[in-house]
Amino acid sequence: MTGFGKGLTGITVVMTEDLLRTARHTITIGAQHLRLSEAETQRLLAADRQLAVAFTIEFEDGPELVHAWRVQHDLARGPGKGGMRYASDVNLEEVTGLASIMSLKNSLAGLPFGGAKGGVSVDVGRLPDGGRAQLAERLGRAFGGFVGPRTDILGPDVGTGPNDMAAFTKAWQESMGSDSNAVATGKPMDAGGIEVRTGATALGCAQAIRVALERTDLDSGASVAIQGFGSLGAELARLLSDDGHPIVAVSDSGGGIHDPDGLDIEAVAEAKKSDGSVTDADGEKMGSIDVLTVEADIVVPAALQAVIDADLADALQTKIVVEGSNAPSTVLGVERMTARGITVVPDFAANAGGVIGSFHEWKTNLGEAYDDPRQDMIDRTRTLNESIWDRAEKDQVDLRTAAAAIAIEGILGA
Ligand code: GLU
Repeated sequence: MTGFGKGLTGITVVMTEDLLRTARHTITIGAQHLRLSEAETQRLLAADRQLAVAFTIEFEDGPELVHAWRVQHDLARGPGKGGMRYASDVNLEEVTGLASIMSLKNSLAGLPFGGAKGGVSVDVGRLPDGGRAQLAERLGRAFGGFVGPRTDILGPDVGTGPNDMAAFTKAWQESMGSDSNAVATGKPMDAGGIEVRTGATALGCAQAIRVALERTDLDSGASVAIQGFGSLGAELARLLSDDGHPIVAVSDSGGGIHDPDGLDIEAVAEAKKSDGSVTDADGEKMGSIDVLTVEADIVVPAALQAVIDADLADALQTKIVVEGSNAPSTVLGVERMTARGITVVPDFAANAGGVIGSFHEWKTNLGEAYDDPRQDMIDRTRTLNESIWDRAEKDQVDLRTAAAAIAIEGILGA
């Protein structure tokens, strides 16, 4: 089991390696299923373009060097698209792995995008007032022509949100002398954002779960445990609870909370709002990791990467794992779950709603808006999830292999 304590360097390295390994493993099993040659597989694994930059940020106790990366993994389908992650332990390997997951995700969703991702190695908790603005200003200049509305479009990810996207857009426009705000998505409404981007990942994840229910012997009485109560976990819990599902466990960084009869999700959200942690609501308290191993029909890791390793996979008491966050399972974790007959909806199918929402914001910013972006988002997430179940049945493989095969076909056929 990997830990997740901040600043524990050894642990961080394990998790980073796990992420790149998981991403490469997914591409490899898809390529093997399609009987691609070694050369074709190696081409798919290699990133098209990688940019590494460094700049100085003024912290309270003086200037510090900060490293940042942008990786465009595969640009065959169109401009790169993917989020920016701000985290102290992020590095080029992790960003590369995340960028390749975006290539699969964008292709599976039928979007005209290649896969990209960026990261800034910074402890956001230590940033001084105005630190995020400084960061955006440095990034706008450092990324410059490497990104752009028709080259590579940024979006939110772990540690970033609407204000970071707006600040980056402004800085990039100034540095490039451009007036286009289509260089980043997930912006606030007054900076070119669109309403459907908010909650898009949860809406897409709910579709993945609905399709999974239809394809198994479960219904809306199926119980769900969710690790994470951030923008994905909290909204997903609300949507599924509205559908009638008992949400038996949720967690945040303060720990987990469990009730086999179903938690009161409104009360949990309220507890988080007023006191800062879901553990302040009624229910049995437990560790954040333990939320994944309670008895539940569906388990959704929606917080950490590389959390489901072989040991955790052995401890699962569920039939279906829906990967809400990116790369929550290690390679051995995936193999153990498959061996145990647990169905895993892979991350690039389960959480594609976010980038589909971003696609609509980008189209809107380019003056090419769809009539009903929300409906398109629902249709796309439903269709892509149905397609992976169909393919898995037809080819007699697991969902990850089926999804990777479809995504790779979409990249090679572009
Ligand atoms: N970070 C999100 C993802 O991993 C969304 C990226 C975006 O909207 O560009 O899918």
